[in-house]
Amino acid sequence: MSCVFCRIVDGDLPSRTVHETDDALAFLDANPLAPGHTLVVPKAHHETVGDLPPEIAGSVFAAVSAVTPRVEAAVDADATTVAVNNGAAAGQEVPHTHVHVVPRFDGDGNGPIHRLFSERPSLSDAELDDIAAKVREA
Ligand code: AMP
Ligand code: ZN
Repeated sequence: MSCVFCRIVDGDLPSRTVHETDDALAFLDANPLAPGHTLVVPKAHHETVGDLPPEIAGSVFAAVSAVTPRVEAAVDADATTVAVNNGAAAGQEVPHTHVHVVPRFDGDGNGPIHRLFSERPSLSDAELDDIAAKVREA
């Protein structure tokens, strides 16, 4: 099996596990963006958020909710950025869904995830209505 996170779940690779449930595992990121940077993964291999069966999606987010305040407390963080790089075009490097829980500190200067986007599209009301309809109908 080549998936690095499946290998961690199976115990074939070491991890600094911080939380575990029947369906989800949380462990420290090996290359942290901040002290306490944690990844929460489904134990089963699902590549993207949209691939998660609803009950697994719920379990993963429940684990995120459980572990986030513990991470904040452990490193005395003021907040966290909770985010998913969902798909290669969004920067996902490990193709096994994982939620990043990154501690944030007052004045750390890293900004919100909005800073990822240097330009915003100018969309009319009609275009927004059309997009909303397409999402509803997809
Ligand atoms: P992404 O770019 O969203 O796919 O993020 C993948 C993350 O996995 C990166 O932050 C890596 O540092 C982290 N990572 C890769 N391999 C390991 C590993 N063996 N243990 C812990 N974290 C890892
Ligand atoms: Zn996997």
